[in-house]
Amino acid sequence: MEQVSGSAWAECPNGVESAIRMIKGNVSLFCVGDDWQSIYRFAGSDISYTSGFEDHFGATSTIELDKTFRFNSKIGEVASRFVMQNPKQLVKTVISHQTALTPTVSLVRTSVNPDDARLMIVERIAQVALSNSSVYFLARFSHDLPKQEELSRLKWRFPALQFLIDTIHSSKGKEADYVVMLGLSKGKYGLPSEIVTHPLIEALEPDREPFPHAEERRLFYVALTRAKHRVYLLCDMRKCSPFIQELVKNEYPLDLDEFTTSSEQQLALEAACPNCKRGHLTARSNASTGKKFIGCTNFPLCGHTEKSCSWCDAPMETVGRFRQCVNAVCGRWAPICPVSGGEMKYQAAYKFWGCLDYRSSDPDSCRHKEYGYIGAPPTRKQQAQ
Ligand SMILES: [Zn+2]
Ligand SMILES: [Zn+2]
Ligand SMILES: [Zn+2]
Repeated sequence: MEQVSGSAWAECPNGVESAIRMIKGNVSLFCVGDDWQSIYRFAGSDISYTSGFEDHFGATSTIELDKTFRFNSKIGEVASRFVMQNPKQLVKTVISHQTALTPTVSLVRTSVNPDDARLMIVERIAQVALSNSSVYFLARFSHDLPKQEELSRLKWRFPALQFLIDTIHSSKGKEADYVVMLGLSKGKYGLPSEIVTHPLIEALEPDREPFPHAEERRLFYVALTRAKHRVYLLCDMRKCSPFIQELVKNEYPLDLDEFTTSSEQQLALEAACPNCKRGHLTARSNASTGKKFIGCTNFPLCGHTEKSCSWCDAPMETVGRFRQCVNAVCGRWAPICPVSGGEMKYQAAYKFWGCLDYRSSDPDSCRHKEYGYIGAPPTRKQQAQ
């Protein structure tokens, strides 16, 4: 039997396909591939060699390698569910040799500078890791990885740990006890990277897949599954990767409480920007006056601003006909005036709701008022249903 092994079939450039066809008449082929890890489209790889193997090479019998001795079940749970969001990926159940009972993918939400954040994570790992454990820093782009100088400092400070760095592309096939994922922002140099391929180069590459960011999604899968014990996702939520947003919004089993998190970071995803729909509303302050307001995380691309909650300074979001503070602890809400769009306030003495845009001295100001019960806004839970 001729054995064709090595990394996934998806890495086969077109020329190899014809070569294989030529020898196929006389030999049996044994091929190993994983469509979930196809990440080299730019080098000519085509996921259909794995996911549509029979279309290329005819009838085949398949043996599933569905057990992993590397990552534990909680890492597998996050990674498998995430990669299978693309309906074109083959459906598989990967069973972990190691069963974990609590989340082992930890989301570290902070706006401190990346060196300090990495140090904080490594200090934490040093408290729990066995001697000689490996810590693997991974990023989509090498400029997000720690520099040699920082690594030397870490090695000196934590002699019981080993430190490795790689871009996610070059991490394929490797593993470590702990993975720290960096560069989880959005944009050109984020993950998914929004760099647009030049149309000429695009024409030379295998066909683009219909699912958005299909290959970058697999890249995220590859990064998660490099870890044996635990993955740390380091992220500033004010400019966070759409992949992280997806994990948080869809309640993937993440550890959100390993580190103390500021309320700004906790609330960053709560209110989407009504103007650009891409950014999120976040508390900002005017550099010269110090006055607080709510602005879009997409600034300066998006200049949307609005008033913050008058009780707690958090963003307010629109829910039906109400404005509601995103800070659940605060809970402030107010009806929106259907005439001026301003907030309305209950005037207890007169028993009606009046528009806050009303000015007694200005006959042109909004005079809208409503009697009776306007009601309470739906809760966040009700919205989700
Ligand atoms: Zn915006
Ligand atoms: Zn509030
Ligand atoms: Zn009004």
